[in-house]
Amino acid sequence: MTTQPHTARLIDGKQSAQRLLAEVAQQVQACRAEGVTPALAVVLVGDDPASQVYVRNKLRAAEQVGILSHEYRFPATLSEQQLLATIDNLNRDAAVNGILVQLPLPAHIDEGRVVRAISPLKDVDGFHPENAGGLVQGQRVLTPCTPLGCMRLLAEYGGDLAGKHAVVVGRSNIVGKPMAALLLQAHCSVTTLHSRSQDAARLARQADILIAAVGRPGMIDASWIKPGAVVIDVGINRITQGEGRSRLVGDVDIASVSAVAAALTPVPGGVGPMTIACLMQNTVTATQLQQQAAALQCAG
Ligand code: NDP
Repeated sequence: MTTQPHTARLIDGKQSAQRLLAEVAQQVQACRAEGVTPALAVVLVGDDPASQVYVRNKLRAAEQVGILSHEYRFPATLSEQQLLATIDNLNRDAAVNGILVQLPLPAHIDEGRVVRAISPLKDVDGFHPENAGGLVQGQRVLTPCTPLGCMRLLAEYGGDLAGKHAVVVGRSNIVGKPMAALLLQAHCSVTTLHSRSQDAARLARQADILIAAVGRPGMIDASWIKPGAVVIDVGINRITQGEGRSRLVGDVDIASVSAVAAALTPVPGGVGPMTIACLMQNTVTATQLQQQAAALQCAG
C-alpha cells in the first residue's frame, strides 16, 4: 500500500473575505437604519501603479458593502502642507467616517507626520500612534487591517488559539508588531523574529502558528515549520519569470511547506483579500466609535 504525501489544507482568503464583506454589508444596513451611511475618503498621491490597483480594489469593496467612498487624487508634486490641509478638512467633515491615505507617499512627504495628522477616530488603517498604543493595551481601537485579517483567518481555520505558540516573522509597524499584539490578546505565547534574530528557523519550528511578514520570496521553507502548524503568508512579492512576465509569490515556499504544515494561505488569494475586507470592517467600526464619542459628548 502506498501512502499519499501530506498536503496542507489551503486556506481560502477570497471566500473568507466574501463572508466578512457580507457581515459588513449588514452592519452598514444597521447604520443606515439609524440615519448614518458610513463614508470612506481615500487619498492617493502620485501614480504608483500598485497603489492605483489597491485603491481601485478598496473602492470596489466599499461599493459592494454600501459604504460611500470619496476619492482624492493628487499629482506626485503635491506638497506635504497641501496634503495635511486636505486631511484637516476630512477630519472636520462630519460626513466622512474613515480616512485612508494610500502609502507609500512621494519621498518629499513625511509619512509619519501624515499618519499622525489623521484623527485617531477616522484612522481606518490603524497606524496612528494612539491606536497602536491602544492596541497594545487591549482597548477597542482601530487596528491595522492586515493583522486583523490574519486573526479572522485564524479564527476560522486555526482552532482555539489560547496557549498556542505563535511565531511572527517580521516586526514592521503595519504588520509584525500589531500582529504580535493581537496574538498575545488571543492568549498565544508569542515570539517575534526579525533580521537580527539568531537561529530563526529553529525558533520558528516551535510554532503552532507561523505568520510570515518579511517581503522575501519563498524565504520560509519546510525547515522553518513544525509538522501540523498553521501558516499564514502575508508576503506579497513580484518575481520576474523572463520575457517580461512576472507573478506574485509569498514569503513561504509553498511546495515544501505544504508537505509539513496543516494549513496554509496561498498568495495571491490568502491574506490580500482579507486586508481589504477588514478595511471595510474598520470603516464601520470607525463610524460606531464616532457615534459613541458624540453620544458621550452630548451626555457630558
Ligand atoms: P517591512 O519591510 O516593513 O518589514 C519586513 C520585516 O521582515 C522586518 O521587520 C525585517 O526585520 C524582517 N526581515 C527581513 N529579513 C529577514 C530575515 N532574513 N529573517 C527574519 N526577518 C527578516 O515589510 P512589511 O511588514 O510592510 O511587509 C511584509 C510583507 O508583507 C511584504 O511582502 C509586503 O508586501 C506584504 N504585505 C502584504 C499585505 C497584504 O495585504 N497581504 C499588507 C502589507 C504588507 P528588521 O526589522 O530587522 O529589518
